[in-house]
Parts: sequence; structure tokens; C-alpha cells
Amino acid sequence: MRLVDAHAHLSDSSFEMDLESVVLKARENGLAAIVDCGLGPDGALRSLRISEKFRGYVYSTIGIDYGAPFSVNYEEVVKIILDNRSRIIGIGEVGLDYYTVRAPEDRARLIGFFGFFIGLAERLNLPIIVHSRSAGKDAIDILIGRNAKKVLMHAFDGKASYAMKGVEAGFFFSIPPSIARSPQKQKLAARLPLENILLESDSPVLGVDPLKRNEPANIVFSLREISRIKKIDPDTVAEETTKNACRLFGLRI
Ligand SMILES: [Zn+2]
Repeated sequence: MRLVDAHAHLSDSSFEMDLESVVLKARENGLAAIVDCGLGPDGALRSLRISEKFRGYVYSTIGIDYGAPFSVNYEEVVKIILDNRSRIIGIGEVGLDYYTVRAPEDRARLIGFFGFFIGLAERLNLPIIVHSRSAGKDAIDILIGRNAKKVLMHAFDGKASYAMKGVEAGFFFSIPPSIARSPQKQKLAARLPLENILLESDSPVLGVDPLKRNEPANIVFSLREISRIKKIDPDTVAEETTKNACRLFGLRI
């Protein structure tokens, strides 16, 4: 079985002490590649160092931490993206967070930044990995309005019916291990065609057990749940989701 973790944060400080063994465990569990996501300038540089170290196994994308989206130095993030175009395979996570950001004028600012990143991803011909916490509908509408093509909606928390609008536009959706405890994600997996699904861990968060640090090897739980819900054998789910990841990110693994 060959799996791809389409979205992880190995560059998170919680992996600093045992990164080698986390990557080894991923390999032992059938992962053929991990797409890391560096958040903010510091996370971006850490992610680039990690993908250099595990070259051909860990790949970098660069985005924004939506825990505090207005304390991020956007110019610096964009500069790192431009300076390292050949070393990254995607832009993101970027997007909207209506859970953290409540005031309409602040949401409007976020939408402005999001629009900028959609344009940048298109200009650099890179996929965009979209964060859309409590903002799935707006994020999908904006992406469709901008005619975005290479899109990964990560940990989508909106309605399955709305996700289908994204499917019609050719967007991909990545499913984290938290599907094991989330009726919303179970509904989403039931509805999405397998051709549009990728596996993600979103490590260190969104694990099966919310109190435990999540890690890439745990995408086997996403795989198991998707297989159970869709009544498709695990080998097929593995093969198809890996094919989808390779198609989106242009991976040759
Ligand atoms: Zn993430």
C-alpha cells in the first residue's frame, strides 16, 4: 500500500524532538510521501529545511497560521514563496477563518489576502491548499469566482452539499483522521466521489484522539473510515487517493 499525506505540519515545534522516528513510522505504515505545510515565515523556513533533509519524501508548501492571521508578516511569507518557487509544491494553507475572525471588516481583509494568494498560486502555476474554517461556502464561492483550477480544500468543515459545488469545479478534498469522530466528515466522505478525495493528517492536530499529538502515519485511520463508509476496499482507496495526490501536486513517486 502506498499512501500520501497531503497536508501535515512536521514543521510544528511539537515534532522537533522526534522527527526522525515520526518519519520512520510514516514509512513503516505505507506512506510514500508527506506534503508538509510551513506556517508563517519561521514555519516556512523550517519546512524547507525538513523537505531538504528528507528529500523525495517530504515536500513543502507555505502558508498562513489562521490561529492569529493578523499577526503574520504577509510580505515576508510571499518573499519566501517567491525565493523558493522551485523548492515548494503548493501555496497554503491559505484561506478564510470565520471561527477566529468575527468582525465583518476583518473578514473582508482576510478575503483580500485570500484573493491575493489565489492569484499568486495561479501565476506560479502551483496548487492552492485552502483553509476554510466555518467559511467553506464563501471559500468555495470565491475560488469558483476566480476560476481557480488546482485546489485542495483541506479539513473542509462545511456542508457536504456545498462541497459538491467544489467537486463540480474539479476541486480536491483531503480527509483527516478526525473523521473517526466527526459525523460531518463522515457525511462528506460518503458524498464525495473517490476521484476527488485525498488523505491528510493535519498533524499535530485533527487526530482520532483530540488529546494526542497526531502524526502522518495516522492517515491509515482516514483510509479505513473512507473505505468503510464508501464500501470500497482499502487497497482501491489507497491507490486512488495516492493517484489524486500525485495528479494535484505533480508528484512522481
Ligand atoms: Zn493545517
